[in-house]
Amino acid sequence: MRRETVYIGFGSNVGDRVDFCDRAVTLLSLLPHSQVTGVSLLYETEPVKDSVDPGNGWFLNGVVQLETDIAPHSLLDLLREIERSLGRDEDHRSGPRTIDLDILFYGERVINEAGLTVPHPRLHQRRFVLMPLSELAPLLVHPTRLRSVNQMLAETSDPTEVRLLFPQPSTRYGSRPACSPRLDS
Ligand code: ADP
Ligand code: MG
Repeated sequence: MRRETVYIGFGSNVGDRVDFCDRAVTLLSLLPHSQVTGVSLLYETEPVKDSVDPGNGWFLNGVVQLETDIAPHSLLDLLREIERSLGRDEDHRSGPRTIDLDILFYGERVINEAGLTVPHPRLHQRRFVLMPLSELAPLLVHPTRLRSVNQMLAETSDPTEVRLLFPQPSTRYGSRPACSPRLDS
């Protein structure tokens, strides 16, 4: 299979949100036949109640850029697996979530199937997706809307607040120590 560039959105609005995001990115970096080639900064975002009601807790959101050979449906299955492993409540999927992982773009592919829509159907309406995405791929063009990420960001009417998390956590993906350094040697 041809390696393609995929953008995955992540978000967390319960518990230790920084840790859930960090673990999610770490797990994405461990996927086979794949390489994480970009991670956005973390953003603090007001919950959006468009299709579901995730509760009142503010989210941390970000986007990962992944080069991968994994086919779209298999990738979605793996994302669900990562969500499960990070304690996503499967019985109340639409409520507050430890981690939500969405396929935003899969190369230039357009997929409209039961259970998988790519590009993600609401990405152009979501400032919390477009802001981190614009760090990684400002000029990426949506294959059916024919607008770049920056254009969609400029044109979105999403009124919800999105601000850079400050300070950014130091425990970013890859920097997690495997074990504590020995202090006595
Ligand atoms: P949301 O992410 O919209 O808040 P969920 O995470 O509960 O809501 O996702 C609902 C369903 O959306 C999932 O069961 C999944 O099968 C489906 N889905 C369709 N397209 C995508 C996509 N591009 N990325 C992730 N999930 C998707
Ligand atoms: Mg989701």
